[in-house]
Amino acid sequence: MSRHRNVRGYNYDEDFDDDDVYGQSVDDDYCISPATAAQFIYSSRQERPSVEPPLEEEEMEEEEAIPTSPSLTHNLNPLDQGKLYSCLDQMRTVLGDAVPESVLTQAALRCAFDPQRALDAVLSEESTRPPPPAAWTNQDVPLPQRANKERAVRANQEASGAPRPDKAKGRSVAENKLDLEVLPKVARMTVSGNKQTTGFDVPSTVENGVVSRDLTVTTIPDTPSKRPETPSKASGGADESPSAPTPGRTPGKTKQQLDIRAELEKRQGGKPLLNLVVIGHVDAGKSTLMGHLLYLLGHVNQRTMHKYEQESKKAGKASFAYAWVLDETGEERDRGVTMDVGMTKFETPSKVVTLMDAPGHKDFIPNMITGAAQADVAVLVVDASRGEFEAGFEAGGQTREHGLLVRSLGVTQLAVAVNKMDQVNWQQERFKEITSKLGHFLKQAGFKDSDVFYVPTSGLSGENLTTKSKVLELTSWYSGPCLLDQIDSFKPPQRSVDKPFRLCVSDVFKDQGSGFCVTGKIEAGYIQTGDRILAMPPNETCTVKGISLHDEPLDWAAAGDHVSLTVTGMDIIKINVGCVFCGIKEPIRACSRFRARILLFNIEVPITQGFPVLLHYQTISEPATIRKLVSVLHKSSGEVLKKKPKCLGKGMNAVVEIQTQRPVALELYKDFKELGRFMLRYVGSTIAAGVVTEIKE
Ligand code: GDP
Repeated sequence: MSRHRNVRGYNYDEDFDDDDVYGQSVDDDYCISPATAAQFIYSSRQERPSVEPPLEEEEMEEEEAIPTSPSLTHNLNPLDQGKLYSCLDQMRTVLGDAVPESVLTQAALRCAFDPQRALDAVLSEESTRPPPPAAWTNQDVPLPQRANKERAVRANQEASGAPRPDKAKGRSVAENKLDLEVLPKVARMTVSGNKQTTGFDVPSTVENGVVSRDLTVTTIPDTPSKRPETPSKASGGADESPSAPTPGRTPGKTKQQLDIRAELEKRQGGKPLLNLVVIGHVDAGKSTLMGHLLYLLGHVNQRTMHKYEQESKKAGKASFAYAWVLDETGEERDRGVTMDVGMTKFETPSKVVTLMDAPGHKDFIPNMITGAAQADVAVLVVDASRGEFEAGFEAGGQTREHGLLVRSLGVTQLAVAVNKMDQVNWQQERFKEITSKLGHFLKQAGFKDSDVFYVPTSGLSGENLTTKSKVLELTSWYSGPCLLDQIDSFKPPQRSVDKPFRLCVSDVFKDQGSGFCVTGKIEAGYIQTGDRILAMPPNETCTVKGISLHDEPLDWAAAGDHVSLTVTGMDIIKINVGCVFCGIKEPIRACSRFRARILLFNIEVPITQGFPVLLHYQTISEPATIRKLVSVLHKSSGEVLKKKPKCLGKGMNAVVEIQTQRPVALELYKDFKELGRFMLRYVGSTIAAGVVTEIKE
């Protein structure tokens, strides 16, 4: 079947900003990634990651496979056996396979098969349990998540005044040294599809056989605030009532007011924060390019780099040494592909950049969507080698899909790294050929010519990454900026700091204290420690005990920041990836039915009423159906061409009503652009981009 597609004029409602209007009228032979049923299944919020679990997990499972039938072990009568199995089932739905069967069984027996109490018992045990057996250690948490979580917990503990644990304890000297040496592993967003983390997979810190109880975060210390008292007050604070009692704060002390814009100006030497996602076809050289860039910026010292070189050589993958800076997990290294979205911070002369290295492989597109949904700008890496650019660009390649996805998710500025130029002797003709093909497509996808910049690079040799190249073959025809300068010259995004507070949860995990941690990007407003905030769903409040950004404890954080919050006063079980934290006074609405304007991509099967889709919205992917086909719209004018159509075909612009399986916290696009966009996927293919126009119930 033809895989031609039409990306004609995705023109959002007239009231949308000019610079956010989709492309012009162009036909194109765009192709979305091939469908894989497995991916569709695995993309669900409830599901396991779409990747093989890391080796450690497999090992753990094998050890757990020793027969431990509760009935045999505990000699229960048939009724109690039934109760036990039912209790274990319920515990498993919450805990997954993270806790050994034997631990669950013990807890269930102790708590008379009451799942709630048994769960509580397991959880509280986790913070007091003596050193676990080899099969149940921190190894159970995949490395990147673990690093992320441990760092976030530490940073938040600092924010709360708790003593910082000695990192060296319980770890090998070499491992510890390496951790200190590799600076860029700041945080790693876990968007691997392993999203349903409910906090139980990080057992208490057990160091040298001693449970570190002194790490408990229970109160916010009465630290003198770094915030000046200012009369002005932005409206974006999570809880605007200074008199609201804030548990953990010294009674009688009112929350200080914050002039958020002034504070942002002062922060990081006034450098604005830029969230940058790196996208492109698998093997285009994304990880190598960014790893090398970080190395050149001094984020990885020579010894560590040397170590990566040696290790990658030993593994027969010498050319991947720089990629190893970013591809942290063993599996990523083994497979030579990025699976998670890695997050790292670096600075340019005028910006602080949070770098997200998105997976290029088609199997990980859902992760890429989550990364892109949180990005302000993008670097699209294409492989200039003969045949390779074409492979990434033509049918089945991710270059186009990624380009279109980031644009659909609100990215307007794009730097294209025409990479591996060393492979084509830095030929100007090849560069021109690629930029002209890409330029044509990117315009169709809705990028303005003036917002797309092409930089010839070599991620492997480091040419034109952080300084202008001196390679004669290149300088003879190229005098433009290097990649870093190009990133530096991106316009800083407008942040909705004056709007009500909104944070989309991208990860949830338990910390050693009384609360738990959530990570995510603040999409609007700002937050201060001590604020009471609301989680939607489940429509419950909690208190912010600690905030950290790039591992640094903070008193406040604002729109655009990828933060980790320590919260108390709420049951972690109720929080899922995809929940939105918001201010109490102006909460976000959760709904399972909404109207949207969508642009259909290259769909092979027409969309009819009841069509099943996966709604990719911010950090979630939720099963949904197209409940109603409301109208077909004119692509450019938005005029209604047909009411109640029977079906929708490729390239159409339409209004539909979508029904999600469970409630999702959404905003109207006209109110919060950041929170009003979504993508629809079906059996592993992205079939539409859309904006929310009306929230039903
Ligand atoms: P990713 O999948 O896009 O992250 O690609 P990787 O960074 O893993 O790189 C894939 C392969 O391309 C590795 O073998 C790299 O060494 C190689 N590579 C990356 N950049 C360049 C480059 O600029 N020139 C050459 N010759 N090879 C490169």
